[in-house]
Formats: sequence, C-alpha cells, structure tokens
Amino acid sequence: MNEKIKLGISSCLLGNKVRYDGGHKLDPFLKNTLGRYVDWVPVCPEVESGLPVPREAMHLVGDPDAPHLVTVSSGIDHTNRVLRWAEKKLSELGRMDLCGFVFKSRSPSSGMRGVKLYAPDGVLKGRSIGIFAGAFMQRFPLLPVEDEGRLQDPALRENFIERVFVFKRWQEYAREGKSRGGLVSFHAANKLLILAHSPKHYIALGKLVATAKRYRREALHEEYITALMEGLRFVATARKDTNVLQHMAGYLKKQLSSDEKREIQEEIEYYHRGLVPLIVPLTLLQHHVRKYNVEYLKKQYYLTPHPIELMLRNHI
Ligand code: SF4
Repeated sequence: MNEKIKLGISSCLLGNKVRYDGGHKLDPFLKNTLGRYVDWVPVCPEVESGLPVPREAMHLVGDPDAPHLVTVSSGIDHTNRVLRWAEKKLSELGRMDLCGFVFKSRSPSSGMRGVKLYAPDGVLKGRSIGIFAGAFMQRFPLLPVEDEGRLQDPALRENFIERVFVFKRWQEYAREGKSRGGLVSFHAANKLLILAHSPKHYIALGKLVATAKRYRREALHEEYITALMEGLRFVATARKDTNVLQHMAGYLKKQLSSDEKREIQEEIEYYHRGLVPLIVPLTLLQHHVRKYNVEYLKKQYYLTPHPIELMLRNHI
C-alpha cells in the first residue's frame, strides 16, 4: 500500500466523550490494534450537527423507511437538523477516499441495522437504521461498513477488514488509470479471495473479465467493482475456505513429495473439522508456495489479504 487506509468511525468508539451522557464507547481493538494500519476519520452526527454534550437521549420514531430522530422525554424532533448537516458532511467524506466506516451499534443516529424504532406513543414497534448511517450507506453503497458489535465476531471482523483492504487496493489501482490489462491483473491476484467468499461471483467476475473488450472502459470497471464488493460481503466459511485450500494444493501437486501432500491434506482436514484455525493450513501452503516459487499462487492476495499482525485468521 502506498498510503494508509482511511476509515470513517463513530467518534465515541475512539474514546471521544461525545455521547448524550458525556461518556464514550472506546473500542480498544479499533483504536489501538486496527488503528496501527488505518487513519480514522471520526464522525459524531449529533455533536457535529450542533447538539451539546451532555444532551437529552434520543430514539427513532415513526416509519421504518424514513424514521425520525426524536428526544425521548421532551419529544423534540432533530431529524432535519441532522439530515441537513449530513448532506454537507457526506460530500466532504466523498472527497476523502474512505475505504469503509465502522458505526456505533444501536445508535439512533449511527446504528447501521437493528436500531429500536418506536411508535409516537413510545411503544416499541420494530427496527430500523440510524439516520446518519442510512444516509451514508445510500450515498456510498460500495464501501464496506460494519458496527463495533458485529466486529466482535471473528468471522465478521475478518470479512470486514478483508473488504477494506481490497477496496484500498482497488482505489490505488483505479488511481493509476484503469485499463483492461490492469483489470485482468487485478482480478488474477484476487481470484482465490473471491472464490473463498462466493463461488457464484467468482464465475461471474471471471466471465466479465474474459469479455472485457465488449464493454466501455468505465462501464466495465463500474460493473466489476460493484460485483466484487457484493461478492465479498458473503462471509467465507470453513467449507468455502477448504475448497480454496484444495485448489491451492492442486496447483502444487507436481512439486510436492507424497509426504508433503499427505501433510497438507491432513492440515486441511483438521481445519475443515474445526480442530485448527485457518492460519495453520495456510502457513503450510505458503511455505510450499515460497519453497517451489509458484508464481500464480505467490500473487494471490488470499495468502496475505491483510497484515498478519492483526491475527485475524488465528480465530476462524
Ligand atoms: S453513537 Fe454516533 S451520534 Fe452517538 S455519540 Fe457516538 S458518534 Fe455521536
């Protein structure tokens, strides 16, 4: 990577005291661990739209598709204030080359899913999306987004961070000038990664790249990145990863001794049965990829989708 990844984040998750009660919701993993690899862009919709700290708590009220942001006791509606501010803020964020956003879960402003929604009489009537998070996702549909609650799940955490790194590589590729040849190389390096998430998208993207000449350059790239980010949203599972590991083992079969083949199959089987994490068979395969200098596999981002120090594959 030529430069650090920029990620938006709900400001309170970095430990900033911007919550309605004057507190924060520091998430040490995000701030201290992932923070080594990203430049955080903190956003607090409530404070940045002019509300004080502390302030009255708010909740979502009304239509789940167009909820209102209303104070809990006094019933003041802050929807227009926050949406007016969001309009400008989203344009500003659009110029920052963000690679994703981490939202504060359950917040009526920042929650990206499952936020409690009330009827005007205060009765809980369902779930909706925080009004800033909703506007953000509508403006930037391709950007990876997650909330800190879901990021506690190792598989979702790995999936989100993987998507962020893919998007960053895409930004860097696109900045160098998009070309059909460039897209072929980009796709070649991401093939196994895509296969681990969605075999269906792997096939569709392969066909798209193979027929690249039929498309205008911009339309081709638009279609590619849209399908790529959609495919990567499917979480890799032990079954899909096992398929990719077998694929890699197949590429190595001419070089490996029968002992080495047996050892690889054993590790893949242990992984498949949940006895060892993904990092175990991957490390062994990577060792052989280096040892036998297998060009095609050496270029695969599947082997190193994100910094090893994050240890994301030690837990899945
Ligand atoms: S959840 Fe969003 S609105 Fe609430 S304090 Fe955090 S950043 Fe601000």
